[in-house]
Amino acid sequence: RPAPVSVLGLGAMGGQLARALLAAGHPTTVWNRTPAKADALVAQGARRARTVADAVAASPLAIVCVLNGEVVHRILEPVGAALSGKALVNLTSDTPERNRRAAAWAAEHGIAYLGGAMLMPPTLVGRPEATILYSGSRRAHAEHEATLKALAGRAPYLGPDAGTATAYDVALLSLYYAGLAGMVNAFALAGGEGIPAQDLAPHLDVILGQFPSVAVSMARDIDAGRYSGEADVLAIHTAGLAHIIETSRSHGINTDVLRAVKGLVDRAIAAGYGDAEFAGVIEEMRA
Ligand code: NDP
Repeated sequence: RPAPVSVLGLGAMGGQLARALLAAGHPTTVWNRTPAKADALVAQGARRARTVADAVAASPLAIVCVLNGEVVHRILEPVGAALSGKALVNLTSDTPERNRRAAAWAAEHGIAYLGGAMLMPPTLVGRPEATILYSGSRRAHAEHEATLKALAGRAPYLGPDAGTATAYDVALLSLYYAGLAGMVNAFALAGGEGIPAQDLAPHLDVILGQFPSVAVSMARDIDAGRYSGEADVLAIHTAGLAHIIETSRSHGINTDVLRAVKGLVDRAIAAGYGDAEFAGVIEEMRA
């Protein structure tokens, strides 16, 4: 029988988390600072908690998803004793370090803490293809795995350090944001040449399609600290970047993103990595 769960925070994500739990048949207690956001969920069968203390008392598992780590601390600090012996899953995006501090606070109170990182938009919450990464209390993950899978079909446990899930999250988000900036840059540059974004879009796959295999070989090289290049070495990349920047300038398009990339490449070359593949810029990034 689906276990009772309490959800604290009913914003775009928290509201969807509660909805997914209700859909999976979990007796679901909800709390939100602005109580009206619980109304629709209560109409769907959720139980309204008037206070945070009331919410955490209602279930063996509390899931918190609010604005940031500071808010998590503010709302949970007064109910540490009430959470003792229970599991706490924090799905609020935060730094790995603040997750570790939250885990240390939880340990002091005998709370089994899991840090989580939601890698999907609100529309995918509860779907089999959605992913939430977890790390921290192995027991909490094992005991509540069925419940966690109601939130996202993929719910891997990444180890006992509560900061690990968020470490993966910030690493993956750095790809996401740098990639989005690159994509906007591509559309801007095409637009400068009078090419509509929708004409370029079907061709993006020429680049995007290479990413999975590049990721595998780049990861292997980075772990081995070997970036021996053959064809596409940094000395070639800097020339390529120069003509893209020149074209951008000719259309008055902002070159911040490309200049940042070229800066890394050029500094890596100056440091002696001219014959390295692109992965070699990691030496410059670490510096
Ligand atoms: P929303 O802005 O929709 O919701 C924020 C929530 O935090 C609300 O429940 C809000 O309560 C609560 N809150 C804010 N300040 C306080 C406070 N001082 N005291 C108590 N409660 C407070 O955010 P999301 O749901 O989109 O995001 C929640 C978390 O999920 C964030 O960490 C975000 O980074 C992460 N996330 C979001 C994704 C997305 O696509 N939206 C995707 C993946 C992760 P109130 O209703 O009273 O304002």
